[in-house]
Amino acid sequence: MNVMAHFFEDNRSKQFVLVPFCVLSQAFHAKGLVKYDWGGVVKPIVQTLMDFDVNIIQMPCMETLFMGGTATGLNREPKGMSHYDTPEFREACRSKALEVVEQINGIVQNGYQVAAILGMEYSPSCAVKVQYPPRKDQTNRGVYMQELINLVEEQGMDIPVLGINRRGIGPTVKRLTNILQTATSQAIHYRS
Ligand code: SF4
Repeated sequence: MNVMAHFFEDNRSKQFVLVPFCVLSQAFHAKGLVKYDWGGVVKPIVQTLMDFDVNIIQMPCMETLFMGGTATGLNREPKGMSHYDTPEFREACRSKALEVVEQINGIVQNGYQVAAILGMEYSPSCAVKVQYPPRKDQTNRGVYMQELINLVEEQGMDIPVLGINRRGIGPTVKRLTNILQTATSQAIHYRS
């Protein structure tokens, strides 16, 4: 093999996964919500993403932004859906979700694949389908995730969405692994 040719080969991964901001930085959670073995990144999730060698995009932390940014937002108390499900917060979420969808469009237009969008269960912003306490009469999806998924669906994009449940991380890792295996085999199929 020509060693120089190999050196200059572009070896970038063609796959992306979008993650909530706190997956790479749990200090951005509201106070008292980081109770697991990993205090920085959500290790089992990040390890799985690393194992599959995907590009990771950190989506915005809407609660921190809405609380005035990092200086004030990092110190916020945990609040539920009744606090965050307001027209103002929803509008802020939609506006950021639009930027994220624009990014997804650019990725896809350039021949890359968005293998998954991850959410964070129990979050009034980023949950995919679990809240505590559960909402019987309304969706359990967080406000940011509602806006993001609506926009993705409006654009006719079919991207797997998975909520990370830190209280039972094993099943989440299993589902993520399945999603990434499927994405990898599709990518191989498209190449061949
Ligand atoms: S708002 Fe979303 S990104 Fe920010 S800490 Fe909560 S779950 Fe994480």
